[in-house]
Amino acid sequence: MRKISVIGSGPAGCILAYGLVKGGFDVTLYSDRTPEQWLKESKPTGSAYLYDEVIDIERALGMDHWSSTSFRGQGFLLDTLPTVGGKHTVVKGRTEFGRQGAAIDQRMRTSRWLSDFESIGGRLVIENVTPERLDKIAAKSELTCLAAGKASLANAIPRDPERAVFTSPPRYCAMSVVRSRSGKHVSEWFSPRLPYVPTKFNQYGDTGEYFWVPYEHKTAGATFAMLLEARPGKGFDRFRECSSGEEVTKIACDIVRESAPWEAWIADDMEYVHEDPHAWLTGQFTPTVRKAFGKLPSGGYVIPVGDTAITFDPVCGQGGNFTNRSAKFISDVIFARGDRAYDEAWMEQVNKDMWDNFGGVAYTFNNMFLEPFDETAQLVLDTAAENEAAGDVMFNGFPRADRMFPVMTSPELAQRFSAQFRG
Ligand SMILES: Cc1cc2nc3c(=O)[nH]c(=O)nc-3n(C[C@H](O)[C@H](O)[C@H](O)COP(=O)(O)OP(=O)(O)OC[C@H]3O[C@@H](n4cnc5c(N)ncnc54)[C@H](O)[C@@H]3O)c2cc1C
Repeated sequence: MRKISVIGSGPAGCILAYGLVKGGFDVTLYSDRTPEQWLKESKPTGSAYLYDEVIDIERALGMDHWSSTSFRGQGFLLDTLPTVGGKHTVVKGRTEFGRQGAAIDQRMRTSRWLSDFESIGGRLVIENVTPERLDKIAAKSELTCLAAGKASLANAIPRDPERAVFTSPPRYCAMSVVRSRSGKHVSEWFSPRLPYVPTKFNQYGDTGEYFWVPYEHKTAGATFAMLLEARPGKGFDRFRECSSGEEVTKIACDIVRESAPWEAWIADDMEYVHEDPHAWLTGQFTPTVRKAFGKLPSGGYVIPVGDTAITFDPVCGQGGNFTNRSAKFISDVIFARGDRAYDEAWMEQVNKDMWDNFGGVAYTFNNMFLEPFDETAQLVLDTAAENEAAGDVMFNGFPRADRMFPVMTSPELAQRFSAQFRG
């Protein structure tokens, strides 16, 4: 049995480890936290709304215990303005023509996945892996996969300056999990505007963005994860001193009242899930692309998966979806390798294929949403604003960026898209 180590117990590490164990490999998964610590002492790693076609990857591995009963979403409702108080354009659309995605509390998912891991034949080690330990682990494994997300251990694999475009954080982010204070079902916040549950997205060219993401909280159930993205130094950049979910939520409510008076009533009805002291985040990071492998002092290698391979700004919800796809992709290519060596040429090819097939387009598509659209992308957006069928097609590009990216970047395809829906 080939011996593989996986470092990190977020979705990338767990999905890859499950895939490999089920494929007959000898897998050791290193997690810096126990299942209990994941459930009771951790903050969410993000809101990670996953499209249904991506949850299919978990279904195939027997890892999806939640989506059929969780609070789910079906599309987007976008209010986009060039400036706070500027011209307001509304765009609506379903993402998978009726299929439903979900953001299920990652703490609950990982806790269960780790608890079950040894029963399916894997080996779980609870350890905060240091760079020195990583070197030792890689030296005695046939292959070591690094799924440490954005943590400092990811630096064992160098940044790829040819593909990574950021050298500083484009946004300061804040997130808190919220529900209705008056006891409404949270879906009622948007039902007056849309017949299905959306990810509600507000975009202001001068200050940043905010989102309500349909979220299944580990105990509160149907909630929204409210995510705010502030351009550094601009009007939404007010979260740096926050030390509780209540504080994040209060500032988020102020921002909604000031920048979107039409939905101020939602801010009035919104409260933090008080019983969970950890359901919030603040911070910033530089979205990064890493090289195909890191070579460690003892001669062992590590290859990246998930956020360690490509870190996305959360603005367009591509990170978690790439994470699931990259974990499946890496386990598939490991199977396909059979008994042959995991050498440098193979690692380079794997990373190139991952970038060429789905990672690179998702990264570039995601980054488009951090700056005002050019004329071509704006034509697509304006078409979608006028015609809901066009909105369905545009937002169906979010689960797989290669569906819409060519249209949003080619003047000819954008004209054709516009002509098709505007007549
Ligand atoms: C605020 C926010 C909102 C987001 N919203 C969305 C969204 O709506 N849709 C979407 O698709 N994506 C979203 N994302 C992105 C998504 O959450 C990430 O892409 C995804 O969690 C990455 O998974 P991962 O397993 O690669 O990394 P992580 O989830 O970061 O997991 C890495 C794991 O490695 C462990 N680890 C780190 N260092 C060590 C060590 N030294 N030893 C042992 N273990 C270690 C950590 O504990 C962690 O468990 C969002 C991200 C953020 C920050």
